Amino acid sequence: MRLSRYFMPILKENPKEAEIVSHRLMLRAGMIRQQSQGIYSWLPLGKRVLDKVNAIVREEQNRAGAIELSMPTLQSAELWQESGRYDAYGKEMLRIRDRQDRPMLYGPTNEEMVTDIFRSYVKSYKDLPLNLYHIQLKFRDEIRPRFGTMRSREFLMKDAYSFDLTREGAEHSYRKMFAAYLRTFSRLGLRAIPMRADTGPIGGNLSHEFIILADTGESEVFSHKDFVNFDIPSADTDFDDVAGLQSIFDQWTSVYAATSEMHDEAAFSAIPEAERLSARGIEVGHIFYFGEKYSEPMGAKVQGPDGKEHFVHMGSYGIGPTRLVPAIIEASHDENGIIWPASVAPFDIVVINMKSGDEACDSACEKLYSAFMKAGKDVLLDDRDDRAGTKFATADLIGVPVQVIVGPRSVASGEVEVKDRKTGARETMTIEAAVNRLV
Ligand code: ATP
Ligand code: MG
Ligand code: MG
Ligand code: MG
Repeated sequence: MRLSRYFMPILKENPKEAEIVSHRLMLRAGMIRQQSQGIYSWLPLGKRVLDKVNAIVREEQNRAGAIELSMPTLQSAELWQESGRYDAYGKEMLRIRDRQDRPMLYGPTNEEMVTDIFRSYVKSYKDLPLNLYHIQLKFRDEIRPRFGTMRSREFLMKDAYSFDLTREGAEHSYRKMFAAYLRTFSRLGLRAIPMRADTGPIGGNLSHEFIILADTGESEVFSHKDFVNFDIPSADTDFDDVAGLQSIFDQWTSVYAATSEMHDEAAFSAIPEAERLSARGIEVGHIFYFGEKYSEPMGAKVQGPDGKEHFVHMGSYGIGPTRLVPAIIEASHDENGIIWPASVAPFDIVVINMKSGDEACDSACEKLYSAFMKAGKDVLLDDRDDRAGTKFATADLIGVPVQVIVGPRSVASGEVEVKDRKTGARETMTIEAAVNRLV
């Protein structure tokens, strides 16, 4: 991508409305724009990061055996009347009427709809287990939308729903998502701690929130420090291995970790003081097992091996990609801007032309640009007619992991500078060496 032809509206001033660093940096880097309260456009740079987050979320869902579909954002109130949640959900639900005056709503979550799909087609235990997910916009009319896309009203959620014949089966399905979440957050460069959690309006009796520690987090959390030492399940984890997944789950739930709603002061005090962690955190994921809570009122049942009908045991599993993007920034930035983990960086490499219009600089930049493109890299070429200082500031702000700096002096001897955004380390090398290093 040539920056001169791209759309990346950088802000020079710090936006006054932004209270936390991720919100400030997302606005300054031209990643998002608020359209009305808590409702955002994702501008091209932001969209690139969001797409990369979604791709990782999707890969790990698929690896764990979940199957993607797409359900609509607008739902009929009837389904929610069946489950009893239409009245119970309260003011967070945006209620709409269509031209025939039929009550509709903008889905805040999809348990009812997916249960309706399930009951329409699945009739036998032989088709279980099943886990269906989508990555779709949700709407919750939050009392206090704030911090940009961290808590917005319209936001993206990956929500998966599992169906099993028995409670034991459902618990295995739960542990599949548990392991998939550990992998997902780790690939995003985050260390998320699974904490025993309250089930809220989703209901049910087994639940974990995945929390990223951050001073700006809205949740108060209490945990043992041992989490830093636990291993992330490997890419070749066998998700059908019941005992294997149980042991991952057992390790990750072996030490104390709870949000304030579930906090047990006595149990926490039993931990030696030096190993206690009392901090703030951001909820980036939440998983629930809730048994027959929806299958029973909505009549989602299958025939079991005993020939009898059984209500299916369900669970639901949410991740917030539009919250993850600012959460990653909260965890990874410095005074100059964002520092993206390579896995979600909007571009892999930025080539900075310190003197656009200078023949030697231009031709070296073109050579680098096409070599990186050919190697399949996401590369941004800063070919704007602007001061070098402005270009350096932009590159640091938008957080691309590697900068290749092309200036008139070094290029005269066939050399460029390669800078690592995270460490700030710079190295001078020939153009060929830079290409070999980075492709
Ligand atoms: P919170 O406690 O922050 O209000 P929640 O518990 O209401 O979140 P869940 O119903 O558990 O949210 O939804 C699953 C995931 O969706 C959350 O873990 C979070 O990552 C994301 N999410 C929920 N509400 C929002 C929001 N208003 N803006 C952005 N992401 C959200
Ligand atoms: Mg909420
Ligand atoms: Mg919550
Ligand atoms: Mg939650």
